[in-house]
Amino acid sequence: MKINVALELKLAGKTASRHFEEDYAPVELGGHKLIFTMPLSVDISYAFDGEGFNTQGVLSSELLMNCTKCNSEFKQRFSVEFSERFIKASEEEAEELECYAFSGEVLDIDKMVLDLIVLNAPVYRLCRPDCKGLCPECGCDLNITQCSCSKRHADDPAKPVSPLAQLAQLLNHEEEV
Ligand SMILES: [Zn+2]
Ligand SMILES: [Zn+2]
Repeated sequence: MKINVALELKLAGKTASRHFEEDYAPVELGGHKLIFTMPLSVDISYAFDGEGFNTQGVLSSELLMNCTKCNSEFKQRFSVEFSERFIKASEEEAEELECYAFSGEVLDIDKMVLDLIVLNAPVYRLCRPDCKGLCPECGCDLNITQCSCSKRHADDPAKPVSPLAQLAQLLNHEEEV
């Protein structure tokens, strides 16, 4: 996503705005994959102050999520408000000042967009607030079926845990992190 700012560079103080809507490739994030089920939308306004650009706006989309308790798939909307500064400098110099760099007459906002996604996109969510999760013993989805494991488990606490049940325990545990 690139913005030609040739005009704004000559007209310091003048605010302009743009709207982007783009299909966004999945983003790898700490072993998770963020999969977008809607185009990524970015509304950005920007103004040159003689030295750099102050930008602000909203980024939004929808993600395909896996419930951390029962592992079922669902869609989750998210939106992020941002306000960032771009300066005419090298990437390293800009980063030191917690800004983004631009050069010539183009604001390239791809890096900012990716940062906003990585820092703000939801990763761990429940399919619904009262998700019952999976049975830690047989792994069945307790939202759909009801097993009699908990009763049996209480009778025989030394019973070995199946791999599926371990997965269920892991998923149930993740939600607390
Ligand atoms: Zn669930
Ligand atoms: Zn069970």
